[in-house]
Amino acid sequence: MKTLGLLGGMSWESTLVYYRLLNQGVTARLGGLHSAPLRLASVDFAGIAAQQRAGDWAGAAEVLGQAAVQLRAAGAEGLLIASNTMHKVAGSIVEACGLPLLHIGDATGRALRAAGHIRVGLLGTRFTMEDRFLADHLAEQHGVTTVAPGPAERDEIHRVIYDELCRGLTLPASRDRFVQIMDGLAEQGCEAIILGCTEISLLTPPDHPPEPNGWPLPLFDTTALHAHEAVQWMLLEETRP
Ligand code: GLU
Repeated sequence: MKTLGLLGGMSWESTLVYYRLLNQGVTARLGGLHSAPLRLASVDFAGIAAQQRAGDWAGAAEVLGQAAVQLRAAGAEGLLIASNTMHKVAGSIVEACGLPLLHIGDATGRALRAAGHIRVGLLGTRFTMEDRFLADHLAEQHGVTTVAPGPAERDEIHRVIYDELCRGLTLPASRDRFVQIMDGLAEQGCEAIILGCTEISLLTPPDHPPEPNGWPLPLFDTTALHAHEAVQWMLLEETRP
């Protein structure tokens, strides 16, 4: 197996999910006591979040680039950035460490295309919904068009991510609001929804869909899709959704 470097802590709530999914994936394939060969660099998210708010993306890229260099020195052979938002500076991080990147947009784009979806809603932080780095990657590399909710909805989603989900809070009222926002995207002709923030699936567990109608559209959870492709990479398998 290849050793994966996990750039996490953004937030640690979702890194915990990655850690579980990566290990469960390897155990499911190899059985017994097998688990995932990982290196983890877990940053202090308060500092990164402050740099995001200040628009200091170069500063955040430097912190993450240094952490990725440490991952490589510790034996990582590939890099997973456990945050959609920080893929905004993925190029700088890769330049700093020289590791091959398992891009979250590739795992997501391949899964969407395999399911036949080309026009989808995108939920994430304000940076992910507005700054186009993920939308452009999906369009250019995978032929998938994304639709973001309106400005008021984007503010609400952003607030729920930073004030609730990244702090371990999953509130029923926020879940209901996300369902309403998904309904709006369905009305705009979206065929599916990208959960384009690694914490959103904490609020939308697939095994507990809203009653009585379930989710308005199929959900594509970037955390699960990213972890799934990372397991295939560790096991030297062909990448497929
Ligand atoms: N984990 C989140 C994401 O996937 C948001 C936290 C961050 O800004 O990194 O975008």
